[in-house]
Amino acid sequence: MCRGEGSNTRTVVHLTRGRVYVALSFLVLSLCLCVMFVKFPINTTSVVPQDYREVPILMYHRLTSKKRTRRKYVVTANLFAEDLKYIKNNGYTTVVIQDLIDYVKNKKDLPDKPIVLMFDDGFYNNYLYGFPLLKEHNCKMVISPIVKEVDYYSFYVSDSHAEYAYCTWSQLKEMHDSQLVEVQNHSYDMHETGKRYGIMKKRGESFEKYKQRLTKDFQTAQEKIEREIGVAPTAFIYPFGAVNKESMNILKGLGCEVFANCEERINKIKRGDPECLYSLKRFFRSYKKSSEDYFKIKIEGKRKQKLNLFGEN
Ligand SMILES: [Zn+2]
Repeated sequence: MCRGEGSNTRTVVHLTRGRVYVALSFLVLSLCLCVMFVKFPINTTSVVPQDYREVPILMYHRLTSKKRTRRKYVVTANLFAEDLKYIKNNGYTTVVIQDLIDYVKNKKDLPDKPIVLMFDDGFYNNYLYGFPLLKEHNCKMVISPIVKEVDYYSFYVSDSHAEYAYCTWSQLKEMHDSQLVEVQNHSYDMHETGKRYGIMKKRGESFEKYKQRLTKDFQTAQEKIEREIGVAPTAFIYPFGAVNKESMNILKGLGCEVFANCEERINKIKRGDPECLYSLKRFFRSYKKSSEDYFKIKIEGKRKQKLNLFGEN
């Protein structure tokens, strides 16, 4: 055996021991890290802040107690009840316009699956059938009355026909005071389809005349709602969903923060971006589909399409 062989063997032994130490140290370190992650898991949702929410808005008009009187703008109270059950059983939370404003402008949060239920025109059947259901299911809605009709049914006639009557101020106030109902502006008396379609500009009408007419109508509705309910509306719900750029500029100048139309899409409500509130889209609620089908096809189907569009899943 020569000298060189012994020293080579020692070197090999040292090297092997060194590798064992490195491997053992690595194993101990890995075990420590595993224990740390099990004890203090990383919360990915808090690491990546979500700065927007997908918010579907459903648009209803009249409610009826009878299946035979349902039609285009009339759904049964039973169907509305089914919608509320679906909403609750599928993780949605009903919110109102003020919640959207607070999320965008006031750093408040929204629930995971917010949804807005809107009733246009202010029919008495919303109070008669819809309000008790909201209380039963602890859900919220936005009601946007034609203010002239509310005045008429409050001060000039005493008629509470379930098919065609409108709410009175005391009914709207009662709903508002429950904190389940928010009242918004749907015009004073520009909800018509004559020479003018909703609040659109008439053919040949000067901009100044149009501005005067719209300003007067909007402010009359704002003042009456504030006087009777106690809170001024923050949103304008376009009659018939008829929108033009001039009206939006005029109403923005009068302090209106939110505008809703009848385009059928999911809203992307972005934190710190007031412009996303200028064109809230709404899904028309037809009587023809069950709650399950309506949500699966119209709401959740659109949500999926939109998410794919953004390359998300
Ligand atoms: Zn309307």
